[in-house]
Amino acid sequence: MIMKNNKKQIKNEITDKINNKKLSFQTRAVHIGNDIDKDTNAIKRPITMANSYKLPHDPSVLNWSGVDDNIYTRNGGSNQKYLEKRIASLENAEDCIVLSSGVAALSGLFFSLLETGDHVIFSNVTYIAVYRLLNELFNKKFKVETTIVDTRDIANVKSAIKDNTKLIHIETPGNPTLSIVDISEIAKIAHENDILVSVDNTLASPYNQRPIELGADFSIESLTKYINGHGDSMGGSISGKAEYLDIIRRDSQVNLGGTISPFNAWLIMRGAVTLPLRMEQHNKNALKIAKFLESLSIVTFVAYPGLNSHNNHDIAVKQMGSGFGGVLSFGLDTSHDKHNEFVSNLNIITSAVSLGHDESLIVFIGEDDERQYLYPEEFNNGFFRFSVGLEDSNDLINDINQALIKTGIL
Ligand SMILES: *Cc1c(COP(=O)(O)O)cnc(C)c1O
Repeated sequence: MIMKNNKKQIKNEITDKINNKKLSFQTRAVHIGNDIDKDTNAIKRPITMANSYKLPHDPSVLNWSGVDDNIYTRNGGSNQKYLEKRIASLENAEDCIVLSSGVAALSGLFFSLLETGDHVIFSNVTYIAVYRLLNELFNKKFKVETTIVDTRDIANVKSAIKDNTKLIHIETPGNPTLSIVDISEIAKIAHENDILVSVDNTLASPYNQRPIELGADFSIESLTKYINGHGDSMGGSISGKAEYLDIIRRDSQVNLGGTISPFNAWLIMRGAVTLPLRMEQHNKNALKIAKFLESLSIVTFVAYPGLNSHNNHDIAVKQMGSGFGGVLSFGLDTSHDKHNEFVSNLNIITSAVSLGHDESLIVFIGEDDERQYLYPEEFNNGFFRFSVGLEDSNDLINDINQALIKTGIL
């Protein structure tokens, strides 16, 4: 049977007219992927909540595992495709695939690229699921070799490279230590050795940093965080060259089932419109609060790439420009219990995981965290990861102040 595999082009009058790299990030965030609805002339595209599509007269021409024809929503849906256009443009990438979560993007990438006998190098500071996938699942189940490296030092990366190294995966800024890794240096050494590079760009967002422009092969985003930005839907994306993404798309959606729901894709599309505005506020608020925390004697350290005191501030400036995101970590010189008491005394800032939401979120990571051994020493006595939200920065500073006083530590 001949498998038909012609890419069905979505009609994109507006998108095609303005899909021009000379237009600014802000303009593309508003327009790319949106268009006039052909049925109603509505100036916003509708949500298509259908699982299945009418088959052609002779369905045997279809590839049931294909992702280009409208067959079944697990193979891909229209809202997802609109969002893929927008994210690809914002990442300055040839193509993008949007999936159900950031972890679906990471696992889809690893599953597609890696085979038994391959070797992967990954950063000591990464999202927890990367550690689980590579260090506990892929190596034990599929005999993929893995090496954890402090990728801040390029010499460590060089000496970890082997003949079978297929991929270097880094995260910068790293969650939760805010470590900064030089993306273009890593890409240079990797490509000299025919190795692919993936960068988890979630903490920066493509507004502050674009890994593809810096030489990476893949940029991964948890859309759940800044790109959706409102804490109400999950998604993930992989951006990069079409030659790889065509394969990853099939594996991660049709076969692994990580397809995003049309409703979540639509919500994220809406959130992405204000990404530039929100990131400006996150960047400004976080820098101000980082400086405020640094001025308090009870605070043992503040990790934020925008501070001069950050050990890789110069690299952050080189690859992030002037925006360093909304996440920072800090330590308090007090007991375990007082850390929790401080959080309970906060009124505006909420104790919850996740980051990049509209509201400020804080999480206490205790001194017995399982990955503490991979972090710099100052993180070993327990610390806070603080995702600074869009609230007024003075209100946030006052909230921290009153909670420190109420806890009896200021
Ligand atoms: C949250 C996060 C992820 C995972 O994304 P989900 O959408 O929660 O699956 C991956 N990487 C980083 C850096 C994250 O912060």
